[in-house]
Amino acid sequence: HSKRQGRNTYTFFNHNMGKEVYQRLLLEEQMLGALSRNEFELHFQPQVCLVSGKMSGVEALLRWTNPVLGAVGPDLFIPIAEESGQIVPIGKFVITEALSAAQAWQQQGLDLRVAVNLSPRQFRDENLTQFILDELNRFELAASVLELEITEGLLLSGHPGVSDALTQLSDAGVSIAMDDFGTGYSSLSYLRRYPFDLVKIDRSFIRDLMLDSADQELVSAAISMAHGLGLSVLAEGVETEAQWARLKAMGCDAIQGFVFSKPIPRDALTRLALAESTRTRQNTDRLPDSH
Ligand code: C2E
Ligand code: MG
Ligand code: MG
Ligand code: MG
Repeated sequence: HSKRQGRNTYTFFNHNMGKEVYQRLLLEEQMLGALSRNEFELHFQPQVCLVSGKMSGVEALLRWTNPVLGAVGPDLFIPIAEESGQIVPIGKFVITEALSAAQAWQQQGLDLRVAVNLSPRQFRDENLTQFILDELNRFELAASVLELEITEGLLLSGHPGVSDALTQLSDAGVSIAMDDFGTGYSSLSYLRRYPFDLVKIDRSFIRDLMLDSADQELVSAAISMAHGLGLSVLAEGVETEAQWARLKAMGCDAIQGFVFSKPIPRDALTRLALAESTRTRQNTDRLPDSH
């Protein structure tokens, strides 16, 4: 009996492993040509200022649609792109596309900061900082238009270039955000050691915010601590009006989440932002002291 069980277990394990390995190889193989086949696209998710209630920026989020694999989510393909090194050219594409969108918005009178996610692997490319500064120049954008989102994983990697790169970019005027704040072990000490401007509270703390008093305490503490360090705070994954109101009452500076908008293609984001700015202008025009 035990022998049979053993063999079944063995077969089962092997079968699944084979499938996983195969899928991964397929993914890696398809990824190699994906940039040149134009399969990547950026979507943009609004970030809303809780004081003005208006869109203050957007986060660029990468989408991949492949003829063989269909739509592949970033949680699946980004880790593989990191391991294979493909994240370096893909990450450059993301920066270029995000800045191109920022330039177009600026030309349409829209004042939107654009946030881009960076992976640890990208910092092993010694030209990363210069590439970013060159692209900002090429698109004639102030460095303050760009925000870079990094996670604790990057700082844990201990790569010696990271600190210099972050300092150089920050000195140039680029904003630095700590993404997924609260999910790691050493977020607090890193906030002190690196030039952060913003913390993004991970959505796992927001999901049950209205039910869970521990989450309320943690979010509240994170907000006052970040403010004490002179950083601003954005809450991720806000899905309900109730969460929005609570975060505003807690003094959080900004939110991002499905309650305002999902990540959407560039054209759709442009329409949304133009519609908002028209509404705002009309409201101001109607004020009695404006004529
Ligand atoms: P992230 O940077 O923390 O991005 C936020 C994720 O939360 C996005 O998932 C977004 O669609 C999702 N989200 C936003 N609002 C809500 C909400 O109200 N409810 C829920 N349930 N989810 C919400 P997405 O686009 O699937 O991206 C997943 C992760 O993949 C990102 O997490 C980021 O770590 C990574 N990623 C995406 N694009 C890039 C990129 O261009 N470069 C790198 N290095 N990583 C990227
Ligand atoms: Mg992010
Ligand atoms: Mg996040
Ligand atoms: Mg994340």
